[in-house]
Amino acid sequence: MPQIPLLAEVTTFLARPHGSYIEGTAVLGDDAPFHVINPATGEPLATLNSASQAQADAAMQSAQQAFAAWRDMPTLHRGTLLLKLADKLAEKREELAQLESLCSGKTIQLARMLELDQSVAFLRYFAGWAGKINGETLDVSLPSFAGEKYTAFTRRQPLGVVVAIVPWNFSIMIAVWKIAAALVCGCTVVVKPSEYTPLTLLRLAELATECGFPPGVINVVNGPGGELGPALIGHANCAKVSFTGSVATGNAVGRAAAAQGKRVTLELGGKNAALFLNDLSVTEMVNGIVEAGYLNQGQICAAAECFWLPADKIDAVLQALKTRLDSTVIGSPLDESTAMGPLANRAQLEKITALLATARREGDEIVCGGEAIAGGGYFLQPTAIRVASASSTLMKEETFGPVGSFISYDDPEQALQNINASPFGLAASVWSRNISQALRFSERLEAGIVWINMHTFLDPAVPFGGSKGSGSGREFGSAFIDDYTELKSIMVRY
Ligand code: NAD
Repeated sequence: MPQIPLLAEVTTFLARPHGSYIEGTAVLGDDAPFHVINPATGEPLATLNSASQAQADAAMQSAQQAFAAWRDMPTLHRGTLLLKLADKLAEKREELAQLESLCSGKTIQLARMLELDQSVAFLRYFAGWAGKINGETLDVSLPSFAGEKYTAFTRRQPLGVVVAIVPWNFSIMIAVWKIAAALVCGCTVVVKPSEYTPLTLLRLAELATECGFPPGVINVVNGPGGELGPALIGHANCAKVSFTGSVATGNAVGRAAAAQGKRVTLELGGKNAALFLNDLSVTEMVNGIVEAGYLNQGQICAAAECFWLPADKIDAVLQALKTRLDSTVIGSPLDESTAMGPLANRAQLEKITALLATARREGDEIVCGGEAIAGGGYFLQPTAIRVASASSTLMKEETFGPVGSFISYDDPEQALQNINASPFGLAASVWSRNISQALRFSERLEAGIVWINMHTFLDPAVPFGGSKGSGSGREFGSAFIDDYTELKSIMVRY
């Protein structure tokens, strides 16, 4: 099928000079320009000037100035604005999906169904919390000596300005998780998008202003994370850092935040496992593996990268998986029949090809794929690797790509011990028709979220976040309230 035609709004937006979004206005960055690259072609898509330190400061000042009025706005008004933004994103679904697909290489279908439709769903979910973020009334135990009485209550008070640092893999949706949660609590935000995907959030911020969000409530600061990140985190107005990204950067962000006494939530990567129990058929296992490991070219933090299969089935599963992956339709993300687009950037392709070289050196068997696809873009064949042992590098290091590592087990208990030996614990899944057995494994798998007979499904009502080296804090559900509010106690004598 041919590529879909680009909307006129998309080509017009791309042609504009870009920078940041501060105090309700698009501003050209004062610092060095860089190209936003289309990963499907390797060609420049747009030019963007990075924000200077002074502009980062201006964004933090703007968010601080907007905070008091936003905090004091009736809660239902805040919720209504979030609902308006949800409606606006639904209306502009195609425009934003095309922009995001161009910048990230995500297929247009995924851009529509995950980036946009999920962003709309999360905005509506968080809007529903408006007016429901409450404290408690407490019975206190102080004795009364002269007839006086005591009572106490708690309030959930917004923290202030939230610095939201987001990665490139779901640049709209992950930002929306943070923006919507922070705003419904009464905080204001300064978002720092990835250098690879800086455009769609600029458009989202413009749309928010059209919806009536006051200037300064949502700011977007673009530029190199290594320079702007520390400036934003260290800024006197920063009350909280909410970071999603790699383990290495997250640890640096965590240290920087702790050194400044700032609150921080870290949603990091890891090396997620999927455990298939022996009662499933080969076809069921292959379906589960493709769902768990290869969506969005594997560039999903929660995707499984280590697959544990029963010893008497692994050969058949890998053979069937090879047939399936070799027939994947790889091509332009803007072709609606494409199942797999490019990796999102050159650095990502280089990182994964280096890891594949390590796998070969260590004696892992490349069952299928394993090669970059020649041409201008950053395409990689979907890859399955039968690792030499549980200590292979590919069983430990996140590829963040379409690369599954497969290993057999004789005893599922031994597989569980191996999975839990990982220093990371973002997500895991267990697959079986025996729900009793699957539930027992789910209780013992060490991860922030464990799926049974599914993988990578995120729901706004279900808390999400990592354990062990995969981060701290939880997003979604009611857990987000802790992230963005201070619990204040008030005691009264009467
Ligand atoms: P990254 O860590 O390289 O960058 C993330 C963000 O941090 C970017 O905006 C970047 O500009 C910024 N940054 C870079 N240096 C910084 C610094 N010193 N201080 C502050 N900010 C800085 O991650 P990435 O390559 O964009 O994303 C891929 C990674 O993100 C993968 O490891 C993946 O597992 C992880 N991820 C985790 C989740 C989750 O919810 N747990 C979700 C998506 C992605």
